[in-house]
Amino acid sequence: MYKRQSYNVVDVHKSGDAIVHVTETAVDAKVGDVALAKLDVPRRRDVEREHSATHLLHEALRRVLGTHVQQAGSLVAPDRLRFDFAHFERVRPDELQAIEDLVNEKIFQSIPVHTEEIAIEKARTIPNVKMFFGDKYGDKVRVVSIDEAFSVEFCGGTHVRNSSEIGLFKILSESSVASGVRRIEAIAGRSLRGYLSDLQTQHHAGHDQIALRDERIRLLEKELASLRTGELKKDVIPGIVAGARDLDAEAPGVRRAEFVAADLLPTAAGERGEGFDGEAGVGVFEVGAGGVFFVVGAAVAMADHGGIDGGWLVLR
Ligand SMILES: [Zn+2]
Repeated sequence: MYKRQSYNVVDVHKSGDAIVHVTETAVDAKVGDVALAKLDVPRRRDVEREHSATHLLHEALRRVLGTHVQQAGSLVAPDRLRFDFAHFERVRPDELQAIEDLVNEKIFQSIPVHTEEIAIEKARTIPNVKMFFGDKYGDKVRVVSIDEAFSVEFCGGTHVRNSSEIGLFKILSESSVASGVRRIEAIAGRSLRGYLSDLQTQHHAGHDQIALRDERIRLLEKELASLRTGELKKDVIPGIVAGARDLDAEAPGVRRAEFVAADLLPTAAGERGEGFDGEAGVGVFEVGAGGVFFVVGAAVAMADHGGIDGGWLVLR
């Protein structure tokens, strides 16, 4: 804040003993002017959560995958974190689960976070302390520990006061960034709330889609059943008729056949009128001037309708 005007600080660095704040837009100010620096507290808290979670993730990776895991880069944003590390194969899903569980366990244990500035020589002797070769350290270093038996790291960054402030931790992805370098992307704290809301929305949308699909399947099944019936009428029954033997042609003499089971005739004749429509009526029989025509195949259909056995007609 300068002359009642706000400016967003996008970067901060040291220049000698001075701390330089870089603003988004230019500030028309002279050396010696006074400006008020104000912290964006909610944003700062979010960064703290993601940062402390990164420390826990680093140690969890070493515990689950092995101590060869070395940090190769990391990014801490208010809404996500990214951690690159040396490892020569894909991290299996069960390993990712174990890593995530371990980080969350440390969060649930509500561990106070300790920060201490100590002489570099002494700091170097701390068992399992993580320091980064290539980083330049002064005479004194800041050591951040979240459970002295778990995560102890040289770090100048901002952290939660207690691990429970992180809330919850979730790994989103694991991938390769270069040969022998893996990347984990994760979220912690407040950003998990948005993630869960999105999941719920997707879940509900999925349910709606399933309901729509079920309805469609039901309609298609109905359509299929009706097509099958149509096909039966159009193709199968004519097939039976076509395949039926023309007894009249085969044995003209049967015209004079004596209808032995004559007492069944009225029943059968009735069946023809009631049970068969034009398409399905396969010409079961006809009582002609001198006898009965019987189409083989129809007896089966007749049997369905009247319980009449296929052998009910005896032609002589
Ligand atoms: Zn750190």
